[in-house]
Amino acid sequence: MPKPSVTSAAAPPSKPLSGPQKALRKLGLDRPIDLALHLPLRYEDETRLVKLRDVREGELAQVEGTVRHSEVRITGSRQLLVTLDDGTGTCLLRFFTFYPSQQKALAVGNQIRVRGEIRGGFAGLTMMHPTFKAAGGPLATALTPVYPTVAGLPQAYLRRAVDAGLARAELVDTIPSVYLSQIGLQPKWNMRQSLSFLHHPTPDVTLAALQDHSHPAWQRLKAEELLAQQLSQLQAKRERAVLRAPALTTDDALAVSSLPQGEDSGPRARQPLYERLLATLPFALTGAQRRVCEEITHDLQQTVPMHRLLQGDVGSGKTVVAALAAAVCIDAGWQCALMAPTEILATQHFAKLVGWLHPLGITVAWLTGSQKAKERREMLALIASGQAQLVVGTHAIIQDKVQFHRLALAIIDEQHRFGVAQRLALRGKLVDALEPHLLMMTATPIPRTLAMSYYADLDVSTIDELPPGRTPIITKVVNDARRDEVVARIRGQIAEGRQIYWVCPLIEESEALDLRNATETHAQLSAALPGVMVGLLHSRMPVAEKRAVMSLFTGGQMAVLVSTTVIEVGVDVPNASLMVIEHAERFGLSQLHQLRGRVGRGAAASACVLLYSTGDAPRLSETARERLRAMAESNDGFEIARRDLEIRGPGEFMGARQSGAALLRFADVVADAGLLAWARELAPVMLDQHPALAQQHVLRWLGGKAEFLKA
Ligand code: ADP
Ligand code: MG
Repeated sequence: MPKPSVTSAAAPPSKPLSGPQKALRKLGLDRPIDLALHLPLRYEDETRLVKLRDVREGELAQVEGTVRHSEVRITGSRQLLVTLDDGTGTCLLRFFTFYPSQQKALAVGNQIRVRGEIRGGFAGLTMMHPTFKAAGGPLATALTPVYPTVAGLPQAYLRRAVDAGLARAELVDTIPSVYLSQIGLQPKWNMRQSLSFLHHPTPDVTLAALQDHSHPAWQRLKAEELLAQQLSQLQAKRERAVLRAPALTTDDALAVSSLPQGEDSGPRARQPLYERLLATLPFALTGAQRRVCEEITHDLQQTVPMHRLLQGDVGSGKTVVAALAAAVCIDAGWQCALMAPTEILATQHFAKLVGWLHPLGITVAWLTGSQKAKERREMLALIASGQAQLVVGTHAIIQDKVQFHRLALAIIDEQHRFGVAQRLALRGKLVDALEPHLLMMTATPIPRTLAMSYYADLDVSTIDELPPGRTPIITKVVNDARRDEVVARIRGQIAEGRQIYWVCPLIEESEALDLRNATETHAQLSAALPGVMVGLLHSRMPVAEKRAVMSLFTGGQMAVLVSTTVIEVGVDVPNASLMVIEHAERFGLSQLHQLRGRVGRGAAASACVLLYSTGDAPRLSETARERLRAMAESNDGFEIARRDLEIRGPGEFMGARQSGAALLRFADVVADAGLLAWARELAPVMLDQHPALAQQHVLRWLGGKAEFLKA
C-alpha cells in the first residue's frame, strides 16, 4: 500500500535546499552516475484517467472532476473534507494537514485532477491525502517512477535530481557486446537505453516484467552490477598478490635465532612450538581441523599475504586452529595478534591460549579498552619489544599506540562483527612494508552461492566436522504458556550439577525494553529457583561487572545465566547443558543456531528449548514457524544457513561487508545464478583484455567504495 506520497497536500512547504541535498548525500547519491543508478521502487500510472464508476478499493487511481463541496471540520481532529464529482460518481478527499493555498485550490466549483489510493468505508469512496492539480493538463506519456527515499527528500525533488543525473552521467558501454550476447542481451539494451527505460518505462510494458526484474533492461543492470562486484574482488585479489608478507617458515635459521628467547635457546626450544602444542593438547585434532591447519600453514609459508576465511560451525574447534596458526608464526620468529569483537570473548580466548601456550614458554600479552593504565603500559612494552609473541584482545589492538615489534599474522574472530575500517587498521600495522597474513574466522557458514559472489576474493577453509564425543543437541519448540514446565526442567538439570543459559531477545528499536524483559525474567527465575545463583548479563553493564558475572558462570558457581541477546556468541562453558531462548520467534535462524551452539560442548546430553509467544495473534506467522521447524529438524550449520538464505536473503551473512556497500542492490545471487556465473568468467577476461574498460566499469558502479571492499 503506498504511503501518503510526499508530494501530496500534506507536504510541508519545501525546505531550504540544503536539506534535500544533505538527504541525497545520505543516500550516497553524489555523482550523476549514482543518481542514474538510483532506480525506482515501483511506478505509478499517470498516463490515463479513470472514471469513479470503474474504480475498485485499494486501486491507485487518477481521476478528474469538479469540487462539489469543501469544508474544514473542526470537531475531533481538524481536517479538510472535499467532495469530488466526475459525472459517474463521487469521492471524498480527506486532508489532515493543509495550507490555505491548498484549500483555495480545492474550492467548490474548481476542476481538479487527483491521484491516490481508493478506499471504501461508510462515507463511500475515499482518498486520503491525494495529490492534486488543476484538471486538463497533458497526461504523462511514461509511467511515473517512485524512488526509495528518506525523510526530508521529497519525491518531486528526487525525480528532478535523478533526471538531471541521468542526463549528465557518462554512460558509454563498458562491456563489449560479444559478451552481452552470451547472456542473450541485444545491443539495443545498452546502458543509456536501459537506464532511461527503467526510470521512465513506456506504459505498454507489463508492470510484471518490471516488478520481477525479468525485462532486458533489468537484466542489463543486474549483469553490470554482478560484473562490477566480481571485477572489484578479482582486482583486490590481484593487487594483494603483488604485496609481500613474511614467509613463515622454520628453516630460516635467522628468523629462529632472532627469537627473543634470552638464554633459553637450547635444543629444546628449537623443537617447533607447533609440534609441542600438538603433543600437549588434551585431544587429537579432527580430520577437518588437520586439513584446515595444513591449508593455513601452506599459505603462511608464502610471501603473498594470506587472506583466508576459516568457517566452521559453532563448537567445531576453531580456537585451536587459531592457536596452531599462531604457533607457525611464532616458530618463524614473528608476532601474532588475535582480535575478538567483545571483551568476554577475548577473555575466553586469552585464558585458553595462555593455558595452552604459557607452559610451552610463550608470552601472551593482553589488550583491552577497560584495562588499567599501568597494566596497559606494561603490555604495550611487551608488544613493542617483541617479548610477547602473541597478543590477544579487543579493538584495543588496532589503536595507534600499539606498536608491534614484528607482526606477521592477524587473526580476527567472528570477523563479521568487525567493520571494514577496523580490518584496514590491522593491515596498517606493517613492518618494513610487509603485510601481515590475515586469518578471519566465522561461525556463520556462508552458503556456496554467497561465497562465490561476495567472497570471491577470499580463500575459504571449512571445518565440516565436529569433535567426537558430542551428544547431539535436542531442540524443542515450546509455547511460552508452558514456561513452568521449562522451569521444572531447569531444576532437574541443576540437581544434576548442570548449568543453564537463558537468553532474552534483542528488540532492536528499544534497548531499554530489551533490558526490562531480561531483568523481569531474571527476577522471575530467581524467585522460582530459591537457593540457586541466577546471574544477569546485558550489554549496558560495566565491563568489570560483566567479567565478574561471566567468571562466576565459567567457574560453575552460578547455575543459571540470564542474558540479553547474544552479546557473547563465542563463550565456551562445557558444563552448560540447557539453553532456553525466550521469544525465539524474533531471532534469525543463524542467530538461533549460534546461540544453541553454546550448549552440547561437553559429553552430557544437551537440549535447547525455543520458547515462542504468539502475542495477541492466534498463531505464529508462517516464516516464524518455518524457522523454528528448521531449528528443530537440523543441527547442521550449513543446512541452517542454506534455509536462512532462502527465508531471509543474503543480508545476514554479509555483516561488515555491508558497510562497504557490497550488498547487491539489483541482482540476487540465488535467482540470478546464471548471470553470476557469467560475471565470474568474464571478470578475468575483462581485466586481462580490456583493462581500461574494466577500470571504468568498477569506478562507475563502486566509485570510492571499491577501496573499502579490499579489506
Ligand atoms: P568454535 O569453533 O565455536 O570457536 P571452540 O574452539 O570454542 O569452537 O571449541 C569448542 C570446544 O571443543 C572447546 O572446548 C575446545 O577445546 C574443544 N575442542 C576443539 N577441538 C577438539 C577436538 N579435536 N577434540 C575434542 N575437543 C575439541
Ligand atoms: Mg569461537
